[in-house]
Amino acid sequence: MSKENVIKENKKELSKLDAKHKSKEKCEKFETELSKPGIFETAIPLKLYLEKLVAALAEVGFMKGQFIPCLCTCRDEIAVHGVYDAMTEAFGLKPFVLSCLGGMMFSGVTSLESAMKHAPQYFLDENRQEVNLKNERYVFIGMPHIGINEEGIPGVYEREGRHHSHACGALIAFRDALEIKGTHNINVNTIVQYRDGMIDPDDLEYSILQKRMFSRLEQSKDWKGEKVPTLVDVVKMAELQIFSDLERQLGRLKIDNSKNFYAVVSCIEIHGPRIIDEEGKAQENTWIFYDQIPDYVMMKNRDPTYLNLNLL
Ligand SMILES: [Zn+2]
Repeated sequence: MSKENVIKENKKELSKLDAKHKSKEKCEKFETELSKPGIFETAIPLKLYLEKLVAALAEVGFMKGQFIPCLCTCRDEIAVHGVYDAMTEAFGLKPFVLSCLGGMMFSGVTSLESAMKHAPQYFLDENRQEVNLKNERYVFIGMPHIGINEEGIPGVYEREGRHHSHACGALIAFRDALEIKGTHNINVNTIVQYRDGMIDPDDLEYSILQKRMFSRLEQSKDWKGEKVPTLVDVVKMAELQIFSDLERQLGRLKIDNSKNFYAVVSCIEIHGPRIIDEEGKAQENTWIFYDQIPDYVMMKNRDPTYLNLNLL
């Protein structure tokens, strides 16, 4: 190797170390900020959350590889792919993706019906023999998302190849619209900017997001039409909205609880600063806040059985 090339290689190695050092420092600062009261202080890393969820589901008979996970998070690349891969590993089957902008549950009852038709009806035992399942099982997971940087600033996320970026862009846009229009004299029709509140046919998901989120805002006990909510509050409202849309749509399906069981799971996905691994590759640093809405399963008795995420 020529002298120039050796110097080049050394520089590369040094920049990797530098990146690693910065990444570690950023992650530690992020964790300190996240643990401060008032935002998402009870959030835990995604891997630990999935271990808890797998244990809670197993306790009520939802065993790994024997149910179909159905994931409704934002269509943003940082929201879907890391969680999708982690869920595939944790649950043993690939999730059906219900995702729309902002994590909203707009894919509708037809998408839920389609997902349910993909549920496993048998699994393979240790001898690779088919074992029939008496019941079909589905796990529906609603999950809006938000970036938080190492300074604890909600909405800020440094993407690979891009320093200044944000998440969730759709929910930030909704909040920005409230700020720009002013909260006085605003209503569900004026918030949507296309022809006095009509759904924009070229921007379907965002138009409906604005309407749903504004209705949710009006239902909020703190909303007095005076103060624009924080982004953290908007994301928490989005979780409530996704959950209620999902429940309403499931209600339309008339699932036969004597035969088929389902779980409804809700949480918020938080993107911390990315971690640079030993090879200098960027890894996502995802945390989960799951304290706002209790998860449950619907089985034979037609009453919800609440999941216990504290088994681990
Ligand atoms: Zn998003």
